[in-house]
Amino acid sequence: VGAPEGRLVLAIDVGGTSVKAAVVDADHQILTRARGTSRRGPEILDAIEEVARDALDQLAAADRAAVGYVGVAMLGLVDPERGVCVRSVNLGLDELEVTGPLRERLGLPVALIHDVLAAGLAEVRLGRPDLVDPFVVVIGTGIAAVTFIGGAPVAGVTGQAGELGHVVVRPDGPACACGSRGCLEAVASAAAVARRYTELSGREVAGALEVFDRIDSDPLADQVWDETASALADGLLTVVTLLAPGALVLGGGLADAGDVLTDRVRRMLSERSRVNPVPPVVHARLGSGAGLLGAALLAHDRLTELPASASPAAPHQAPPGTVR
Ligand SMILES: [Zn+2]
Repeated sequence: VGAPEGRLVLAIDVGGTSVKAAVVDADHQILTRARGTSRRGPEILDAIEEVARDALDQLAAADRAAVGYVGVAMLGLVDPERGVCVRSVNLGLDELEVTGPLRERLGLPVALIHDVLAAGLAEVRLGRPDLVDPFVVVIGTGIAAVTFIGGAPVAGVTGQAGELGHVVVRPDGPACACGSRGCLEAVASAAAVARRYTELSGREVAGALEVFDRIDSDPLADQVWDETASALADGLLTVVTLLAPGALVLGGGLADAGDVLTDRVRRMLSERSRVNPVPPVVHARLGSGAGLLGAALLAHDRLTELPASASPAAPHQAPPGTVR
């Protein structure tokens, strides 16, 4: 006996290097998983379809019929209302329709969400439901964040609120991909940590977590982590001063460093904060799977909002800021 009709969703997380998919039940349990490589340009839709079918094909026939909605989390600038990826530098996209074509190809209604918002939603609802109005930072190749106020994420009029990575913290610092200089992302992303360590030591490293592993044995590694935590503390000081969030949650790949990062950021922030008290600084619990679970949450929310008589392919009209 399979799951009741419409009880399952297909979640897809489209990143710069990989596309991940999972079929998720109403209790947030992952039933099947699939993974593929991202492709640049409109062929990203082919990559998404292949990974989606892989995840669906692993289901028993009865469960396949129970899948009622698809949630797609995507990097770049996305417009959830139109179902369009407005721009993604990493994927080489400009105004690519996402939800319409995928609805046709998969025969299921599709909702779109920004990947950082998806990760933030999952972290707040599933990973850290104990926290009130946290500020969730996702630190990976880049840095972005989600602000929760009154329990809801803040999208801003462009839908692009929360670009903490492009807040300037070192005016004389390295150039940023956005064209500015000394952005937080240019000095404290996972990529920046690895780059800085190589610059100081002359040694190539596989990534930021390798620098983390050397903290106890290599003073240069320790220095890089101090610099990173210091830049993050400066960026987050602005956040604490302006927004007084209930907590600061550090997620994404770099946050896998765990307490080593959160302890330093908390200490430096406490030394620098003059106005608002520093809220708890904690690391995210869901790790790199947060985007996928956030896409599943969106799809489940849409599924429960569907009137029983409505066409499952009817586009949804809720503005992005009300995604809950
Ligand atoms: Zn920038």
